[in-house]
Amino acid sequence: MTTSTTTKPAVAIDEPATLPLAMPPIREFTKQRLVGGEDGTADLHGWCAWFCAQVQDGNDHTGRTVAEHGEWCTAGVGSAFVEFLHSDGSPGDLGVELAEPYTHGTYPLDWVRVQNGRNAFVRLVVDASSDDEADRTELHMSIAHARVLAAHLLYAADNLDRIATPMPGWEH
Ligand SMILES: [Zn+2]
Repeated sequence: MTTSTTTKPAVAIDEPATLPLAMPPIREFTKQRLVGGEDGTADLHGWCAWFCAQVQDGNDHTGRTVAEHGEWCTAGVGSAFVEFLHSDGSPGDLGVELAEPYTHGTYPLDWVRVQNGRNAFVRLVVDASSDDEADRTELHMSIAHARVLAAHLLYAADNLDRIATPMPGWEH
């Protein structure tokens, strides 16, 4: 019988590490190499997403470095931000964007496999109009989850306007 009082945190063997949605390359692009080498990396050639605002602005849609382009292809949706209030009463605003990681160069193969499955996102940007990047919070959703959120928002608004079938247990 052990008398040790030392406790260790449980380790989940199969728990995937959190990987960033977008990242700079390990090395600049030289040659497409999708399969991945023995060093656990793959080389991707950069193609902008079809919606990328940088392409709409006249930039090349292919082959720009991540340093030039940035880690994301994005495009804003709607002509204005959506205003809201923080709990302390201070005003804020939400932006809606299309967002897809832009990759050009050498990346860890594990990250490439995960990134390929994620593809593009609907992105909510909290405090989108703030000049300070640190104030902005970016929330990334799959297409399916964005549709669920949109439906919930409409249903909540319709309930407050009393034009929806009420939630069970709610009385209008
Ligand atoms: Zn782009």
